[in-house]
Amino acid sequence: RFGWPPEAEPPKRLSAAQAATGIRPEATMEDARRLLKRIYGYEDFRPGQTRVLETLLSGRDTVGIMPTGGGKSICYQIPALLLPGTTLVISPLISLMKDQVDALASLGIPAACLNSSMSLRETNRVLREAAEGAYKLLYIAPERLESERFEPLLRSMEVPFVAIDEAHCVSQWGHDFRTSYLHIAGLIRRFERRPLVAAFTATATDDVREDIVRLLGLHDPQVHVTGFDRPNLSFTVMRGAQREKVLLRYADMHADQAGIVYCATRKEVEHVYKTLVSHGVPAGMYHAGMRDADREEAQDRFLRDDIRVMVATNAFGMGIDKSNVRYVIHWNMPKNMEAYYQEAGRAGRDGEPGECILMFQGQDILTQKFLIEQSTSHPERKANELRRLRQMADFCHTQQCLRRYILQYFGDPDAPEACGRCGNCNDNSETEDITVEAQQIFSCIRRMRERFGMTLVAQVLKGSANKRIAQLSLDKLPTYGLMRAKTEREIFDLIQLLVADGYLTLTEGQYPVVKLLPRAAGVLKGEERVVRKTRKVTRQRQAGDDVFEELRALRKSIADRDRIPPYVVFADSTLRDMAVRL
Ligand code: ADP
Ligand code: MG
Ligand code: ZN
Repeated sequence: RFGWPPEAEPPKRLSAAQAATGIRPEATMEDARRLLKRIYGYEDFRPGQTRVLETLLSGRDTVGIMPTGGGKSICYQIPALLLPGTTLVISPLISLMKDQVDALASLGIPAACLNSSMSLRETNRVLREAAEGAYKLLYIAPERLESERFEPLLRSMEVPFVAIDEAHCVSQWGHDFRTSYLHIAGLIRRFERRPLVAAFTATATDDVREDIVRLLGLHDPQVHVTGFDRPNLSFTVMRGAQREKVLLRYADMHADQAGIVYCATRKEVEHVYKTLVSHGVPAGMYHAGMRDADREEAQDRFLRDDIRVMVATNAFGMGIDKSNVRYVIHWNMPKNMEAYYQEAGRAGRDGEPGECILMFQGQDILTQKFLIEQSTSHPERKANELRRLRQMADFCHTQQCLRRYILQYFGDPDAPEACGRCGNCNDNSETEDITVEAQQIFSCIRRMRERFGMTLVAQVLKGSANKRIAQLSLDKLPTYGLMRAKTEREIFDLIQLLVADGYLTLTEGQYPVVKLLPRAAGVLKGEERVVRKTRKVTRQRQAGDDVFEELRALRKSIADRDRIPPYVVFADSTLRDMAVRL
């Protein structure tokens, strides 16, 4: 039941609009469904829309987080039609506002907008009609709220419901901050009767979500995250793959179809582009260092299917809507899951199958860390981005279902246990039971009171004779030396895997501390088993392997002689891969 108006008070005067829809304020989901069918011609709500509407119909403030195309508009248009008076919709996009008003008009729903592109005369007409209660929905650009002219008017209207679209604009963490969004909370507070408030966005990060609730002044809202699954997409992570081979195979497999290859740097865009062209693949490239005209031409040719593969940095794709992209390859790991999912999500917009392949290289983490260091000096922001980078790296290392990882990351409750069609679900490599090792690691972390980092935990389990361990008396722990038979590196890798698979977590900051997650408790109690997949594929020899092996042998012999491994300085940055392996 709708909580508005609080007392069962009949609307003062039935406006033309209300008479047209003839809806009582005590509306039910059945009423909502009937309206959906009658006005929009859709059979039913999407699962997430149902959850949002149920909350709104119960009269509770709501945050609806849904990806683009998820169907947010209906989540506020239907309640607007079910309620008396005029619903205010705050939206920052003028063009979108006009489209919606026109679309509503074609459905026979009276709506109007107020924004800075309108003449004074038009504005005055809308204001006059709005005061008379002529509209069911009034779209307002947030800047208009700053003008004192509007306030008395808005407050003289009967406003049962305020919907805020693109609500992430209120947050400085978002990519689209607008100061005018900060005026919304004040407006809502000044209504004589506080309207119901709903905020909608496609941005799902925690910090943005918290800002939305706080800065828009929502009252104990229910937050619904929903619709993030893209059932027609398949996801695969390849670690240490021979990237060129994989790329050329996909370009060949989809010879007449469109694909996008995302790279982290301009240099790599150029390299991948040249590789494709030299193999006769009609490719184009796109990055911020190109001339505007060249970039536009490349984009047009891609949209026209003149070129099939677009090699690009993350600058490509904003606002372009090409529906028949069959695959998206990430040549490098992106900086966070939001960026990854948005880019990968450009595959299969038409609902036909799309493949998303991420080719992870250990060096990607260093590259992204470097880019983060370069892009911001704000400590809080940096910590935030490093945390998200780690979650991205976990995605690259996890063994669990990739779709599940994505949906859990965004907080979408419709996550399956395992989708059965991602690279991890279909991985037919052998599995090894590591439950006992996991239990040893968890109990050691517990004994160490969850106060230390991965390296020290690994050293304690190894039984290292290290000064710090002695100082802290960690060598007195019963778990000291429990995994003596393994190398410290092996133990460290196991811990890392348990982090990636959601048994352990790392705290933020310069010295991350390993902590147990609830899932670990199940393992300690013997209720859950832990497995590790071991890939049987052996890596093929690459150019440079000989030099690498020689170098490693030399380094080892020096280390054996001097008891300290020597520093190795690489004079050429193209040898960075080798440095990481070493
Ligand atoms: P968003 O604002 O979340 O990006 P929109 O509100 O613009 O998404 O909706 C995207 C598309 O989905 C629109 O074409 C809309 O008509 C359609 N749509 C929304 N809800 C439903 C539904 N329940 N059934 C079928 N189509 C729907
Ligand atoms: Mg929208
Ligand atoms: Zn899966």
